Amino acid sequence: MVNLLKIKRAFFSLSGRLMTGITAIHFILIPLLLGSVLYFVNNTMKEQFISDTRHMMGLIAASLTPIDFVTNRITTINLMDEIILSGNILYAEISLPDGNKITSLLEVQNKDIIFIEDLEFDQHNDDIYFIEIPIDINDVNVVSTLRVGFDEKPLTEQLDIITMYLCSIILAYIVINLVLVFYLGRRTTMPLKKLRQASREIRQGHIDADLDIQSPVTDVRDLAIDLDLMRQELVSQASALKHQALHDALTGLPNRVLLEDRLQQAALKGNRKVEPFALLLMDLNRFKEVNDTLGHQAGDEVLRQAALRLRNAVRSEDTVARLGGDEFAVILYGTDNNSDVVAESLAIEMQRAFTVGEQTLHVGASIGISHYPEQSKDAEELMRQADIAMYEAKRSGLHYKTYHKSHDKQMLEKLALSNEFHEAIITHQIILHYQPKIDLRTGEFSEVEALARWNHSEHGLIMPEKFITLAEKKGFIIDLTNSLLQTAINDAAKWYHLGHPIEVSLNLSPKNLLDDDLPQRIERMLKKANLPAKYISLEITENAIIQDPGRARDILLTLKEMGVRSAIDDFGTGYSSLVYIRQLPVSEIKIDKSFVVDMIQNDDDLVIVKATTRMAHDLGLTVTAEGVESAVVHEYLKKIGCDKGQGYHYSKALPFDELNKWRVHYNRSQIHGVG
Ligand code: C2E
Ligand code: CA
Ligand code: CA
Repeated sequence: MVNLLKIKRAFFSLSGRLMTGITAIHFILIPLLLGSVLYFVNNTMKEQFISDTRHMMGLIAASLTPIDFVTNRITTINLMDEIILSGNILYAEISLPDGNKITSLLEVQNKDIIFIEDLEFDQHNDDIYFIEIPIDINDVNVVSTLRVGFDEKPLTEQLDIITMYLCSIILAYIVINLVLVFYLGRRTTMPLKKLRQASREIRQGHIDADLDIQSPVTDVRDLAIDLDLMRQELVSQASALKHQALHDALTGLPNRVLLEDRLQQAALKGNRKVEPFALLLMDLNRFKEVNDTLGHQAGDEVLRQAALRLRNAVRSEDTVARLGGDEFAVILYGTDNNSDVVAESLAIEMQRAFTVGEQTLHVGASIGISHYPEQSKDAEELMRQADIAMYEAKRSGLHYKTYHKSHDKQMLEKLALSNEFHEAIITHQIILHYQPKIDLRTGEFSEVEALARWNHSEHGLIMPEKFITLAEKKGFIIDLTNSLLQTAINDAAKWYHLGHPIEVSLNLSPKNLLDDDLPQRIERMLKKANLPAKYISLEITENAIIQDPGRARDILLTLKEMGVRSAIDDFGTGYSSLVYIRQLPVSEIKIDKSFVVDMIQNDDDLVIVKATTRMAHDLGLTVTAEGVESAVVHEYLKKIGCDKGQGYHYSKALPFDELNKWRVHYNRSQIHGVG
């Protein structure tokens, strides 16, 4: 079967086709040529033979005429013998008019020769050409007949030899031809075969080796050149694709895949001959806000500039990669990598303002560091450690943090918390503490901010920064907010029905402002608790609104119509302006505590607090200052006309019962003028 296939393939190959083609042509043309040559030679030689014999007959007849056959019988016979002996004549006879014959004695030996006159060569199959002519005997004047038989064999043999000779020439010709065709065919098809092999290898992806195919045939040479050009094109395309696959399109830096590969390489090399390196993972701090407030183009520009700064801040042999989003990684090679110094300088680079169009943006970064080989010899593990360290740095508000084993425990706790969290909402382990807000003009206390705490059976009271983002990420925030809203409304209703109403404001997450059911739900709860809407207000950040401004505005408007007021929380940390906020249905802004805490020592903060207060008032907004930690700040805020204060100076957030005690105590101190 395989052989049959091979034969078929060989037959249809180029040399196979050439050979069969040429053979076919020869099979048609050569017999034609051979036939006509033979035919021509045959005819000519036979005609020559016949004319020669006739000429000979004439001569014989002439030599006989003077003789009287009858009287000179012996002489005649001798003459006949001579004729026969003289050459190609096998038979000679004179037939006399009386019917007698004079025959050569030599001829008598060939008794079986019978004279049958031939009109052409090779007639009657006797190998003898018989002819007769009348001879006129002068004296007697009687006509006798001379009959002669010429041997046809010499000519026949000669013709056979010619035929054979021609045939062998032709055969030799065909053989030489086929050999030549085969040789030339092979010389032509060998490079073609190589080309085929080469193209097969290209298809299999072996495209690096140069194509070296020589051929005397120009077409094949051209084909080889074209194929090599195609290969070179593929090589450059492949390298472009490889670059694309291993680099980040936005910044041109190596991407995660390449970074992981380099890490693995460095770790492998280190296994043979330990060469230490440090892995730095960096995350920008306020990047999400840039993206959300100013759009993706601004975000992209910040990333590009950040990438450039990073690249310029390290040695050229170090690797800088973008892992995606606002995460970057740096590998610092060598014992002298100075990871702490470099991390600090990178963080400072990221703190320098970014200029995007007209805007000046402050972003900052947190960096986590892990060390090879001290902390791990495994690339993946090093990534994990640097990631945890980065998280720790972010959590503690530091520029950088080097990984330590103890971080794992904290991480595990975080994970465990995340598993327990939903259960905690359902079983009301998340409770509210209330922090008072004081009216700075009158000193009166009538408002609180509700702040969530997780009352954990094992870990005690867990602060919101450990679980709010978790709830947002895990999709529990709507459930959590609903549960806390219920608590806040119930507690506010208690105060209201006790006769000393306190306005409770609750923090909302960005997701809550995408929840269209929120206003109706609040309305139902208020109705059930029999509480006027003005005793509940909501705190939202600018970033929450920016996610879907239209929808947020609708929800806030519905709430406002119901009588539920809203405040902008953490004012000053985002990028929106007061003018923009004025267009929203909110009545209050809360200046972020980061501007308030140190405002006495820090002139910049002071300027911001003052200016914000004045402008907010111009726009008809109430201003609350968060983070009032001292009497000095309290007094100063009062002086510049800030409406309300909130902070540890008055009280931290307290459970419901403790707040009631605090209230009594505070009111008493107010009456007595202490405070
Ligand atoms: P926030 O809305 O800015 O809340 C004020 C935070 O500042 C509270 O931290 C409060 O304890 C703290 N604080 C109050 N007075 C002072 C002060 O004088 N000095 C300093 N340095 N800090 C002060 P807390 O309770 O840890 O809450 C942290 C954040 O968690 C809140 O920031 C808020 O964004 C979020 N959060 C708290 N409860 C909830 C909630 O029920 N829902 C949602 N979505 N977020 C919440
Ligand atoms: Ca708040
Ligand atoms: Ca705040």
